[in-house]
Amino acid sequence: MQQDSLWQAVLGEIELSVSRGNFLTWFKNTCLLKQEDGVTVVGVPNIFIKQQLERKYNDLIVETLKRNGVESDKVEYKISTAASPAPKPEDQDTSYSTAPAPTDSRQTTLKQDTGNSLAHSYRQGLNERYTLDNFIVGSGNELAFAACQAIAQQPGSKYNPLFLYGGVGIGKTHLMQAVGNVLSARDPKAKVLYISTEQFVQEFVDALRFRKTADFAGYYRTADVLIVDDVQFIAGKDKMQEEFFHTFNALHQANKQIIISSDKPPGEIPTLEDRLKSRFAGGMSIDMQTPDFETRCAIIQIKTHDHDITLPQDVIEYLATNIQTNIRELEGALNQLLAFCEMRGLEPTLSIASSLLSVSKTRPKHLSAKQIVERTARHYQIQVEEIIGPKRDKDIVVPRQVAMYMLRNELHLSFPKIARELGRKDHTTAIHSVEKIEKESRLDPSLRQDISEIKEHLYA
Ligand code: ADP
Ligand code: MG
Repeated sequence: MQQDSLWQAVLGEIELSVSRGNFLTWFKNTCLLKQEDGVTVVGVPNIFIKQQLERKYNDLIVETLKRNGVESDKVEYKISTAASPAPKPEDQDTSYSTAPAPTDSRQTTLKQDTGNSLAHSYRQGLNERYTLDNFIVGSGNELAFAACQAIAQQPGSKYNPLFLYGGVGIGKTHLMQAVGNVLSARDPKAKVLYISTEQFVQEFVDALRFRKTADFAGYYRTADVLIVDDVQFIAGKDKMQEEFFHTFNALHQANKQIIISSDKPPGEIPTLEDRLKSRFAGGMSIDMQTPDFETRCAIIQIKTHDHDITLPQDVIEYLATNIQTNIRELEGALNQLLAFCEMRGLEPTLSIASSLLSVSKTRPKHLSAKQIVERTARHYQIQVEEIIGPKRDKDIVVPRQVAMYMLRNELHLSFPKIARELGRKDHTTAIHSVEKIEKESRLDPSLRQDISEIKEHLYA
């Protein structure tokens, strides 16, 4: 009990001396396990927080302990379940209202889309991989993180809409998805909808074609939380802008949380209607910047978490130095390195990392969709006609999905375009395929090996 109040006092002081984001990320879920004979043992929820506290915050912790009357020769950090976050009753947000069950036909599709659990039937497009806990807070994203944290606590009140903008691969999607996941987990009946603008536009076009615009409008206007990613793609689509304007207003008036991302600030999106510009800018707009070196190192560490491996510090620093602007690319290089080493039973070293990275830097820019499809077919020893044909046997479906994944990751094609390349009419197939391979490649080393072999040939 005494230990408890000591640690609360220490945390209270630390909270004042670090940023809110850092406090929440690194300190909030720690506890004091032991304090005797000059040894202090702090319980932490995972290895990653352990490392960060050891490396970056140890002095602060020692000093703060000292100010609270504890002279510790040594502070140890120990992973402990006692430190795991347990939601406190007061964290439960009761102000968050639940919309009535949607009555339109989308409900059943949603159940299929999102993993058939009833608890998830009101989520759309959310990927549980993205959490606030596994988002590293640092310069460049601190403010965005804090705003998302605030929204996760109390949606629809303070920052509405929240408009996040910035370059590719700096964590916009991650953060927005993470907020969606928190809100949907807290209230499984809340209608939390995440949608990429590409998909939004496609659905709207389909709705127009099948004269179902009323369903479309009804569906999105009853959201409790609407998350629209990469809204720059709405540029030039007049009818869609009109529709979105009304959806936006309906939700905003009902104090429903809206989160939007874009590659530029609202005022700079070309051919965006003025009334939308001013709506988007009417809440909180936050510029996300490339994270600094330390933050990039921390991101690399958290991304190695799923793999049973500790990267040497020099390798981490090498990656963080050489890939500065795009975290997605940083993650790609890391995965490439891990796959390369895993395939060959090697420990990752600086020299392997640097040779792999210099190869990928000289990637030919002229790689075509056709080459990717051909190479994938060849890898799996099937014909291109089979990959783009109608057959649904497993030994054809998997290569087809891998090809879609490669088109997305290597060429950044849009989903409708990916679908067309593989002879599919429906772009949602492409979305599901890419997501499926992303997910499975994390769990299945042989799939990762397939992907990296195909890549090696493509870039050889
Ligand atoms: P954007 O939407 O801005 O293009 P994403 O959110 O897709 O970028 O981020 C690209 C990748 O980088 C994702 O895998 C994401 O998890 C990761 N990422 C970016 N920033 C961070 C961060 N601060 N902490 C952890 N992962 C991050
Ligand atoms: Mg994104």
